[in-house]
This record gives sequence, structure tokens and C-alpha cells, in this order.
Amino acid sequence: MNLSEKLESILTAESMALIRLIRTEAERFDFPLYLVGGSVRDLLLGRAINDFDLTVEGDAAQLAEAVLRKYAGKVVFHARFGTATWTLDETTFKRLNIPLLGVSGFPPFLDFISARSETYSQPGALPTVKRSTIDDDLLRRDFTINTMAVRLDGRYWGQLHDPLGGQADLNRKWIRILHSRSFVDDPTRMLRAVRYAARFGFEIEPGTLDLINEEAGDVLAGLSGERLRHELDLMFEERDSSTLLHRLAELDLLKPIHISLHHANFQLPFLEILSGEFGEFTIPDIMTFKRTLGWILWLMPLSEFDVDMISKRLDFPALLTKSTRAASTLLNALPSFIAWRPSQWTFYLEDLPSMSVYAVYLMRKEPALRDYLVSWRKIKPTITGDLLKKRGLEPGPKYAEILRQLRAAWLDGDVMNEKEEKQLLEKLIQ
Ligand code: ATP
Repeated sequence: MNLSEKLESILTAESMALIRLIRTEAERFDFPLYLVGGSVRDLLLGRAINDFDLTVEGDAAQLAEAVLRKYAGKVVFHARFGTATWTLDETTFKRLNIPLLGVSGFPPFLDFISARSETYSQPGALPTVKRSTIDDDLLRRDFTINTMAVRLDGRYWGQLHDPLGGQADLNRKWIRILHSRSFVDDPTRMLRAVRYAARFGFEIEPGTLDLINEEAGDVLAGLSGERLRHELDLMFEERDSSTLLHRLAELDLLKPIHISLHHANFQLPFLEILSGEFGEFTIPDIMTFKRTLGWILWLMPLSEFDVDMISKRLDFPALLTKSTRAASTLLNALPSFIAWRPSQWTFYLEDLPSMSVYAVYLMRKEPALRDYLVSWRKIKPTITGDLLKKRGLEPGPKYAEILRQLRAAWLDGDVMNEKEEKQLLEKLIQ
């Protein structure tokens, strides 16, 4: 099957219609238009293409504006990178004659990118960007398998542009960098190499592996917390995150980020967790919070002190700091709670993020944690504040205390029905 047939067989009719319209506009400006990077790699591997990386040799903003004028929607320009994001709306679909119902993930969007070159003023710095040719654009990339482009305009439709041997490395199953300073320019590429290798079952090419060394590690150590966290977040989007994190430790890639991260040792099979028993969580919950759950599971065996250090180093958002810390505290303190009554568990656990409780349950399988998640936290007294008011009680802090005691009685089985609850209320009032 040649590439143009492959494109037609992998892309949905809607995607093909979109590509055709963009290609027509690009031809008007005489801009060579390419599908590049990960989308070409996935196309050649016969994998689904999640997002199109569309690159023009020319002004991407001008192209996006023209498409917007004809097909409506919304365009956001990102001047620093010479890119524009076009979000399609209902009018777009009407004008394209595509039934809205057939399109998943509405409103979809597309990135238009001007081919560019990048230079690094110093190791680890963000690059300086300049508009350039497709060849320069491919040269700035991370690995050979990501440096292929398929031309989409005019008579060039379906032509593969592969100046750096990407297809050969795909066949060899190799992750290979483009030049020996690549990891020093941008050490996050070392993390990306491990991620791609795990995802596709590829090897890191021996010369590339040699360059995962101390020099690049030192530059990695100097990167900002946010940049590193973003790269580590992506590990939890992969199928087998736990193996991936072990591999990072094996290659000494976690030490330069934080020494405790190197020792954290992800202990649970993440993949099984995501596809196995979900406790009281539904699958969409888990998927939405996959990254949070991943971080909690990874860090919870560490001490609170270490978790705090890592959270500072990686500039965690407040909720992630709270969730990872809570799980570490709970896991360490668990043995001393074992004789607790359900009400004690519930009042304590209620102050913690439920994802932290869930993570500790996965690790220790303590039945009380499961009972809390599945039922205890939903148990409330039938008597409410309103009823206390009707009963003639003066509103005040007493209300909260009475309701708390009633709830504890329900939780601990000290009252079993509404009659007993009322009797207890009378006792409490007296
Ligand atoms: P994924 O399937 O994980 O989204 P992708 O290849 O589409 O993979 P992106 O992170 O979306 O990856 O990046 C798009 C393209 O930009 C990559 O294919 C790669 O060519 C290039 N790229 C991304 N990050 C870097 C980097 N740090 N250094 C060089 N090139 C990069």
C-alpha cells in the first residue's frame, strides 16, 4: 500500500475532508503543506493518528485566517512559535457538509505550524525560533522516527520526505537522536526516548544510549520543575507506566531530578490498576485523574518529608501536593488505626482527597478504606438541622455536635433505624 492509500485508509472521511480543504487553501498561497512528526510515524506504523501536525513552508497564520474566513470557527495565534490553532464549530461543519453526529470529540481543533528552525543559546535553554524550510524543521526534532513528513498539496499528495532515515529506524525499531549534542540542548529528550521506546517496544540505539550520560544528566538537573513535571506527567499516559519509571531509574535519569524520586520505586502494576478493580470509582474518574493517581502511587511509599521535597522541586499544583502528602501520611499511620470504629475512620478520612484513600487501599487492601469509599462516607443521619430547629433547639455549635454523634451512631451500628435514632436524639438533648 502506498502512502496516499494508507492516508485514505487510516483517516476518517471527516479528517480527509478537512485535509482536502486546507490543502486547497495552501495551494492558493503556494505554500507546500505537510503532515509531519508523530502523525507520520503513526501512519507508517499503521496506528491511529490522534492529532495532525500540519506544517507549511510559509505563513501558518495567513493560512489559518483564510480557512477561518471560508469555514468559520475560531483561530488563536501563537506568535512566538508561528503557529495558529483553528477550532471548528457548527457553522464549519455545515459549510463542510459533514454531519456533526459523526464527529467524535467535538469541537475538534487543528494546529497550523510554520516550518521553523530552532537554535539553543545554552544547554537546556528554551530555543530561539526562526521561520524556515521543512528540512530545517525536521532537523530541530528529537528522534529520526519523528523526522518524516508527508506532502499533502497538489501533485505532491502522499509523497514521503525522509531526509534522516526515519523509515529505516522505524523498521529497525530504533529510537535515535539526530546529533550528538541533542540531549544537552534539551535533556527532556532523554525522558522522551524512554517513553517512545516503551510505547513502541523499540530499543534506544546504542550510540544514543551512550549519550544518556552525566553531562546530559547535569543539564537535566538544572531544568525548571514545571518542565520536568510536564514530561513526567506524560509517563502516566502510557500503557505500562510502572515499567517505564523503573527504566528511568535504571538509566539514572531520576537522580538528577531528585534523589528521593530515584528511590521511590513504583510498586504497583499501574496497567492492572487501570484495567482492573476500580473500587467505588468509575472508569471515567480514573481516566480523568490518571496522572494524579499515578503520582500518588509513585510517591506514597516515601516519607512526608521526601514527598514535600519532590513536590517543591517539581512545582506541584496545590491539589497534587495535598494528595501525595495525604497518601504518604495515611500509608505510614495505617497500622495504628486498625482498631478504629467506622465513625473514627470516616471522620478522619473525610479530610483527605478520596484519590489518596483509594491509592492507599490499592497498596494495602485494608477493608476499612474500601468500606469508607464504597459506603461509609455516604451514610448520614436522617435527622437534619431543620428538624432540630422544629424540635425547638436553639441554633448554634451544638447542632453540629449532635448531628455528628447521630452520624457516628449510624456508622457504628449503635442505631439501626429511625426510631432508635430519635431515642438517641432525646438522650443527647437531655
Ligand atoms: P505523542 O504521540 O506522544 O503525542 P508526538 O510525536 O505527536 O507524540 P508531541 O509531543 O506532540 O509528540 O510533539 C510533536 C512533535 O514535535 C514530535 O513528533 C517531535 O518531532 C517534536 N518534538 C516534541 N518535543 C520535542 C523536543 N523536546 N525536542 C525536539 N522535538 C520535539
